[in-house]
Amino acid sequence: MRGFRPLALTFGLLLQGQGAVAQESMTCDGAPIVVNAPSDQLVRQSCEAAGRALALLRPCGLDLGNTISLAVVDTLSLGSDHCLGAYDCNADRIEVLAPGSLSETLGTGSAFAALDEDMIFQSVVAHEVTHAALTHTVRPAILPVEAQEYLAYAVQLSVLPETAVDAAFGPSPDGSALDHGSFNVMILMMAPDAYALRAYAHFQAPEHGCAFVEGLISGLYRFPQLGP
Ligand SMILES: [Zn+2]
Repeated sequence: MRGFRPLALTFGLLLQGQGAVAQESMTCDGAPIVVNAPSDQLVRQSCEAAGRALALLRPCGLDLGNTISLAVVDTLSLGSDHCLGAYDCNADRIEVLAPGSLSETLGTGSAFAALDEDMIFQSVVAHEVTHAALTHTVRPAILPVEAQEYLAYAVQLSVLPETAVDAAFGPSPDGSALDHGSFNVMILMMAPDAYALRAYAHFQAPEHGCAFVEGLISGLYRFPQLGP
């Protein structure tokens, strides 16, 4: 598999805020993403996670069409207080909390909290890169939020070792047996961990994967809409 090591196109010390904060700034090798992070290790982890996400998305016809930025931060300027990461489609910018801040924000109530910090971090990068690739490749407005989150969560868990997902989330449901009613906005909002695990199991089922994702994008498949 092609590596997604950081390619040192730019490298330097950026001054931020009041104090001088060392920031590594590099473009990933194999992914058009300029990463700004407080350490070389976080740059590398960001590029690896983005690379794994794109390796899953590209066979489904989804990719980044131009260079985006990804910043590893202690406080998000995008999204809400409870977010672990966010993608701003106008600025083409992803922000992801650094591992320490991620754990703090996540607390202990989520299955994700049972993963090791670096895995949580990498999974959030993969989730946000999926949103960016969807935005670049299709008009996300044509996809309801539950369909967008289906793919973002499926990729988020798929970049992790299967044993880590099993240990944190417990046994996966049979993805082949899950019907479309398993993916609605109520479950997404009320039980995001369950939604993530269902999306992962459904996406991983041999008859689903890219074939299902392409059907979602074309409108062949639709998740049931709640409400009047
Ligand atoms: Zn999302």
